[in-house]
Amino acid sequence: MAASSTPNLWRRIPLWQRILAGLFLGVIVGSLMGENAGVFKPLGDIFISAIKMLIVPLVFSTLVVGITAMRDPQKMGRIGARTIGLYLITTAFAIAIGLLASTIFQPGAGVDLSFDQPMEAQDAPSLVEILVNLVPQNPIDALAEGNIMQIIVFAIGLGVSLMLVGEKGEPVVRVFESFAEAMYKLTEIVMSFAPFGVFGLIAYVAGSYGLEVLLPLAKVIGVAYLASVIHVLVVYSGLLALLGRLNPKRYLSGIIDALVVAYSSASSSGTLPVSLRCAQKNLGVSEGVSGFVLPVGATINMDGTALYQGVVTLFIAQMLGVDLSMADYGMIILTGTLASIGTAGVPGAGLIMLSIVMSQVGLPLEAIAVIAGIDRILDMARTSVNVAGDLMVTTLVGKSEGELDEDVYNGPNKA
Ligand code: ASP
Repeated sequence: MAASSTPNLWRRIPLWQRILAGLFLGVIVGSLMGENAGVFKPLGDIFISAIKMLIVPLVFSTLVVGITAMRDPQKMGRIGARTIGLYLITTAFAIAIGLLASTIFQPGAGVDLSFDQPMEAQDAPSLVEILVNLVPQNPIDALAEGNIMQIIVFAIGLGVSLMLVGEKGEPVVRVFESFAEAMYKLTEIVMSFAPFGVFGLIAYVAGSYGLEVLLPLAKVIGVAYLASVIHVLVVYSGLLALLGRLNPKRYLSGIIDALVVAYSSASSSGTLPVSLRCAQKNLGVSEGVSGFVLPVGATINMDGTALYQGVVTLFIAQMLGVDLSMADYGMIILTGTLASIGTAGVPGAGLIMLSIVMSQVGLPLEAIAVIAGIDRILDMARTSVNVAGDLMVTTLVGKSEGELDEDVYNGPNKA
């Protein structure tokens, strides 16, 4: 009796509450057990592998189905232009907020931490290189490597062609439709494991960072978190309300699952299946729009990373007593935006790209070592903002294209 009623009770709690419970329990258990909490890490690793397993088939099938359902190839061009425009604007905003927060709160003033590890500067990816790499030579290679941008290009090509061949393309479209449905189901199954996965990941992180490592850098962590929250609450909510005439509270409550998974996994690419599910089930964005805008965002739109670069570059300048000019600030916004575009949606990528921004304004790259030890804590926050930004732009683009079901957006969350 008890054995059968417990799982039902558990399932009756909404998923986002179960996931949040996993998060809080993870923090408590990790703090109590310290390094020993590492025993729970495999739970998290299995969960992350299971969602990563979904990325390629889910993105590919959703996009093909979405494009054929749109029945208008020109619409794709418009959606693409809007998406890129909004992604760039929000990223520039994010980095400016990071700079402003560090200027006001001066997290680096009076900090004296030694560093000596050598670091190599990275090169910003060239625009031509990015464009050439968009087109796959072999789509199977692109699928096997999980090269999202190339998969998107091929899926758009296939979707548009299927639409153009009309009746003859229908059997293939139906195969993709049923495949996509199966992938949604699989996502749902994997997500039911999320509370345990999140618990394992967070217990491990909370157990590995003692107060003695975190305290000296508490101020910069605090500033980065505060700026992140402000960016989401002010910029994203503001844009949704002003441009989309949508209630931002619905957006915030609809994206909780994705936020928690992003926070605990520190990977926006890994969170993609969860973001797709939130966009479609909770926010009411169509398959076509979410299937395009979200994977592009998980690859190029990294507002949290840009914001972090602003905060940390100023933190290091303050720590070393280096005065930066207005031109330097402009340079940070420009290179930070480019560097964030080139940042992969995987844990720790932003730390490596930070060297691009630092070298542009003449700061010693070795200083990056100061925050390297606590970067995971910053990574968790910036990844959540990266994912929140993708979902905000998806909602706005959906709304502007008439591809947002406002009954779902305003209704009770289903997932
Ligand atoms: N971990 C981040 C992400 O996946 C990238 C970064 O390190 O900034 O979005």
